[in-house]
Amino acid sequence: MFVNQSAGDALELVKSILGPVLLAQVGRQRRTTGDLMGCTIIFLKRLSCAKHARPVLSKLDDGLVLVANGWRIRGTGGFTLGSYVFPHDMPPERLFIIHEYVHVLQWRAEGVKFMWRYIRAGLWNWPPYDEDGWPYEPQGRNPYETQALQIEAIYRRTPGLPEPWLLGPCLTYRDMGSN
Ligand SMILES: [Zn+2]
Repeated sequence: MFVNQSAGDALELVKSILGPVLLAQVGRQRRTTGDLMGCTIIFLKRLSCAKHARPVLSKLDDGLVLVANGWRIRGTGGFTLGSYVFPHDMPPERLFIIHEYVHVLQWRAEGVKFMWRYIRAGLWNWPPYDEDGWPYEPQGRNPYETQALQIEAIYRRTPGLPEPWLLGPCLTYRDMGSN
């Protein structure tokens, strides 16, 4: 998939995969049903757990909230409800946060429709991926996961790219003061 790609090309690829709809969600911090669900889980866990096992929240950029001691879904590295990211392991890797951030943008763009479409597309229906983490044969697979895996793979290959939460429709690689 990746052949001598420059950082500028990689950034353009990130932007084209996100597309104008998701890029428009960067910085928007719109609240959705996902946020309500995330808050509810945190609230219920706080009520039901001993003090040491209660969720611990940390704020990240662009409204993201990292939830330690949250809720785990087997077979995943974590999951995202609205702007609440529930990692399986703490501290999460940067690539995990970047992957989940794509889901944050998907929530913001489509709200509760995203949840139903995601479920309909298959909860564990991820495409296979190559040694770069690039998904292949995406036909019939969950398109939201394909999109998040693609973005994750580009950042794995080009770690110097600006974080996706810094991307707006007008940002270019030069804007970041790098070359
Ligand atoms: Zn995902």
